[in-house]
Amino acid sequence: MAALIEVAGLAKHFVERQTMLDRLLGERGPPVRAVDGVDFEIRAGECFGLVGESGCGKTTVARLILRIYRPTGGEIRFDGTEIGALPQRDLRPHYREMQVIFQDPTASLDPRMRVEEVVREPLDIFRIGTPRERRERVFELLRLTGLSESHADRYPHEFSGGQQQRIAIARALAVGPRFIVCDEPVSALDVSVQGQILNLLMDLQEEFSLSYLFITHDLAVARHICDRLTVMYLGKIMELGETEQIFRRPKHPYTQALLSAIPHPEPNLDVERTILTGGLPDPRNPPPGCRFHTRCPVAEPRCEAEEPPLKTDRDGHRVACHFA
Ligand code: SF4
Repeated sequence: MAALIEVAGLAKHFVERQTMLDRLLGERGPPVRAVDGVDFEIRAGECFGLVGESGCGKTTVARLILRIYRPTGGEIRFDGTEIGALPQRDLRPHYREMQVIFQDPTASLDPRMRVEEVVREPLDIFRIGTPRERRERVFELLRLTGLSESHADRYPHEFSGGQQQRIAIARALAVGPRFIVCDEPVSALDVSVQGQILNLLMDLQEEFSLSYLFITHDLAVARHICDRLTVMYLGKIMELGETEQIFRRPKHPYTQALLSAIPHPEPNLDVERTILTGGLPDPRNPPPGCRFHTRCPVAEPRCEAEEPPLKTDRDGHRVACHFA
């Protein structure tokens, strides 16, 4: 599969706002290194997962690709065009190709707008079709996402969380994007409807050849929907590979610890678990060498002195560990 999105050396460092006293003293703290040099590609038609603890940089990566943030460094290529450095006025055609589905559907839908207006809004913004064509397109999108035309005149608060997420998905599809960021799209939903929304996303992906960047902290969800998976830690990629490859044979100690924490269906089975101690280190002052060495259960002196490169093996599996 050809790459739709290629990211190289992507970085985002947030500089904290100076107080009056800082300005007088000429002091400025170190930047928060939210994303600190990541490389990957998202292939056309694939679901590419990003997993890791809160604060590892997953959402910042997505916002950089969507150009909500301007990168501090590196490149973002969308279908061959470098968009990382483009000014806002030149991004409009690309915004039509890229959409997003947020975690909390209630917060992402304007409560004052009827469902028809919510789903039609992107068509209005991009001036696509006549008023009648837009209305027909809204009805088509509602049917595609498991809703019906009769829902068009209602308000978002009249729907359940799962139905609200269907409305948000219909809106994301309205302008015919090729790429959608799914930012924890089922984590705010009841477990009983999570599967329905995941299956809907998979059906739509196949029908419209969509590429997804799927952000989740739930590894079971990632295994269900993602073709490939990237494990991030403190702004860097630790491991990247085919989802099944990673679940069957995780190579990085951090991935191994994350997977060992998944509850096993047989509660009495004696499964060996790796318990990570402490929290994520301060991203303003990341540990030297391997960023994971302060929590790694198998760290050696070399790990503190030397940063491991992200190496690719014969199967295309990438791992950043001296001893993987
Ligand atoms: Fe652990 Fe060292 Fe590998 Fe980092 S390089 S994951 S600290 S063993």
